[in-house]
Formats: sequence, structure tokens, C-alpha cells
Amino acid sequence: MQSELIQKLTTDLHKPLSAHEALVESDRCYFCHDAPCITACPTGIDIPLFIRQINTQNPLGSAKTIFDENIFGGMCARVCPTETLCEQACVRNTAEEKPVKIGELQRFATDTQMQTGKQPYSRGPATNQSVAVVGAGPAGLSCAHRLALKGHKVTVFDGLEKSGGLNEYGIATYKTIDDFAQHEVEYILSIGGIEVQHGKTLGKDFTLDSLKQDFDAVFLGIGLGNVNNAGLISGDVSNVENAVEFIARLRQAQNKADVSVGRRVIVIGGGMTAIDAAVQSRFLGAEDVSVIYRRSQSQMNASDYEQSLAQTSGVLLRTHLQPRQIVLNNGVASGVEFEYTRTDGDSLVGTGETVTYECDTVLLAIGQSLAEQAQQNGITLSANRIQVDDQQRTSDANVWAGGDCASNGEDLTVAAVQAGKLAAESIHATLSS
Ligand SMILES: Cc1cc2nc3c(=O)[nH]c(=O)nc-3n(C[C@H](O)[C@H](O)[C@H](O)COP(=O)(O)OP(=O)(O)OC[C@H]3O[C@@H](n4cnc5c(N)ncnc54)[C@H](O)[C@@H]3O)c2cc1C
Ligand code: SF4
Repeated sequence: MQSELIQKLTTDLHKPLSAHEALVESDRCYFCHDAPCITACPTGIDIPLFIRQINTQNPLGSAKTIFDENIFGGMCARVCPTETLCEQACVRNTAEEKPVKIGELQRFATDTQMQTGKQPYSRGPATNQSVAVVGAGPAGLSCAHRLALKGHKVTVFDGLEKSGGLNEYGIATYKTIDDFAQHEVEYILSIGGIEVQHGKTLGKDFTLDSLKQDFDAVFLGIGLGNVNNAGLISGDVSNVENAVEFIARLRQAQNKADVSVGRRVIVIGGGMTAIDAAVQSRFLGAEDVSVIYRRSQSQMNASDYEQSLAQTSGVLLRTHLQPRQIVLNNGVASGVEFEYTRTDGDSLVGTGETVTYECDTVLLAIGQSLAEQAQQNGITLSANRIQVDDQQRTSDANVWAGGDCASNGEDLTVAAVQAGKLAAESIHATLSS
């Protein structure tokens, strides 16, 4: 039983479609002329066109249609919450029918192309302009790829050892198996003209001012480096961990079974990170896993699909409970005390009634925020993210930003890819004027 669960960590959540299945599924698309699925895709992929290309047995052409708008089309096919984006908008998404499986078709096309080992793009004729990109996550690499396509020389700096950002360190193991994140990075970089320097941190190894002196433009795609703990814990408690760090540790573990969570796990939060941490804890063999959220289930940030994945994996969702304190026993967390909540108009209030749940591990998934170094660059912030306009320009004329760190970030891979792409177009227009 234990080994069956562990296997789920490294088994595809959705088995890829075979060529025949893709053909049959592509036949379900009406190729709508006003395709609402396109509008619902943050990167604006021409969905009916790529499905038509699969239908006419042209998967490489289909992949090109996808990559033209989203160079991370392979990862997005695996991790996009399609049930709240393109597939929700699909006209076949009715009480009687199911939407066209757009995500799975996208994966079929992009996997077919990526298996050829060659991307359908090459670097444009070299300009004599150079751009620094800070952060090798989806936003940074999407920006870098589009800039290389235009012929600019790009240097990407990342504080970590591997590229990919949360694609490598955050996305659940079962959504991106077989080291797909690294294969995709190699695929994207194979356009040429992009140098990546790892172990180079903005604010420690270099400053924004030095980048502005050395490069013609700068793009910041640094994500949200701080994890919140709502004052629940100070100092190190061995069995209390931020869910993002727990997932990163699990993603990087050679042997997943070496990551131990005990029998009873409490995850505090209500977003995708909370659900991913809980499901992965179950697959690691924890018997009693709860996601505990302060509002109602319908107010959770995690989609209905994610919630149902948690429940069918044996995770209990407890709602209307806010954490009061972590109960320590000899310096180790033995439980968490919660207070029941209720909604009073627009506010959430505690009822005064409390309950304590015992546990072996506490995982905190209560949000992330912009790291301190990013706040000290003299750039205007808005709601603790870097303020940007609709072309991803910051308050500094030579600096663009996008993805989770930016004020229009949506905490979704696909939105970060789009922001990087828009920034690259804006940087190119500025450098060419
Ligand atoms: C646990 C978890 C699960 C998720 N699951 C999903 C999912 O299933 N589907 C989905 O669509 N979205 C998911 N998301 C959200 C998605 O991963 C992010 O929205 C996306 O990765 C944002 O991309 P980004 O490039 O802005 O930032 P990141 O992916 O965070 O990349 C930022 C990069 O910048 C680097 N960096 C940071 N600071 C510095 C610095 N000072 N100097 C140099 N480098 C720096 C980091 O090392 C990192 O490589 C998840 C997020 C988390 C936390
Ligand atoms: S809305 Fe659905 S049926 Fe219409 S083009 Fe998009 S995927 Fe095809």
C-alpha cells in the first residue's frame, strides 16, 4: 500500500493521449469562429487552429501554433487549471457534455514537437543590444526567449542552482514527472543567444544599478521569495515547515521515500500550494492529512478540481477554522489550536470557540510575498509587488517586471509566461525606437 502511494508521486496525473485518442478528441471541437476558449487563455493561443491541426494530422504545425504564443506550452498543458480557464469557457462545457480536453490536446502536440529535440525557432539576426533578466522562472525565461527571437543578447541571473523557478521547485511532483521542467528549460534555451548564470542573486552578488549600467534594459522575474507564517512560529521547530519549502525539498529528493512527514499532517491554507502539499503528504504515506482553512470551501483559492483531487486522495478539508497557536511539546509541534470563524457581512470573525488537532507535521501554506532585496531597488511598489503598467514597465524607464513579483501577477504559470512575453515585446519596441 505504502509503495503504491509513493508511486503516485512520480506517476502522471493524466496519462498522455495517444495519437488516436488525440485525433478522436480533436474531432469534438466545433472550431468556433468567436472561440471563447482563446479569450480565456491568458497567452491567447489560437486554440481552434491548433486543434484543427491535430485533426488534420499535423501535430508539429499544431505545436508551432501553441509555442508562437506560449513557449512554456508543454508545462502549461500539465499545470494550467484549464477547468477555470479555456475549458471552462469551451462551448461544449454544458450540463450534458464535457468541454473539449484542450489541455491534454495541447500536451499531445507540444510533446510530439519536443520529442523531435528541436524547437521551431532560431535566434533573430543579432542586434548589438543586451538585456539582463533576473530570475530563470517562467516569466524570466519566456521574456529571454522572445528577446532572443528578436536578436538581442540575453543574460539570465538566478540565485538557485537550477533554472525553471517554481516549475522546478514548486509544481507538484505528479504534474511534471521525468524531469520535464529541466528538459523544457533546455528546449527553450536551445534558441541560442541566452546565457544563464546560476548562484547569482540580485541584492547580494549585484545591484539593479550595476545591471542598468551594464545592459540596455533589465527584466525582473524574481517571483515571491518570502513565505508568510502569520506570526505562528518564531525560530526553527523541526516539524513545522513552509509548504513551499517542503515541496521544493520533495521535488529535489532523489528518493522521495526519504522525505518523512509522519502519520498526521496539518496543512494550513486554502490555495493550490496547500492542496499540493496535502496530496503529496498523503502519497508519502501520511494517514491523516487535513487542509485547514479559515473561510468556506467555496472561498478557497484552489479550484474545484484541485479540491476534489485532494478529497479523492484522502485529504480532509476542514473550513471556518483560523489558527491560534501551534502547540509545542519539548520544542516539537504536537498540535495546532484553531478558533472557529463565521462570516459577519464582509468580515470574518472568530467565534471564541476553539479546537486543537494533534499532528506530527505542520505545513504552512498561507501565502508568499516579495523578498526584501526586491523591495529596496527604488522601484515603486503596489500592494507589496512591483508596480507595472499593461506593458510590464516599472516606474524606472529601463526596468520591466513580470510574473508573481509584479502587481498584475496572478500566481499562475501561464500568466507569468504571458507577462514575460509582453515585457519582451515592450523592451524590443523601446530598444528599436
Ligand atoms: C507550491 C506551488 C505550486 C504551484 N502550482 C501551480 C500549478 O499547478 N499551476 C499553475 O499554473 N501555477 C502554479 N503555481 C504558481 C506558479 O508556479 C507561479 O505563478 C509561477 O512559477 C511564477 O513564475 P515567476 O517566473 O514569476 O516566478 P518563479 O517561478 O518563482 O521564478 C522566480 C525565479 O527568480 C529567482 N530569484 C528570486 N529572487 C532572486 C534574486 N534576488 N536574484 C536572482 N534570482 C532570483 C528564483 O530563484 C526563481 O528561479 C504554484 C506555486 C507554488 C508555490
Ligand atoms: S470553445 Fe471549445 S468547441 Fe469552441 S473552438 Fe474552443 S475548444 Fe473548440
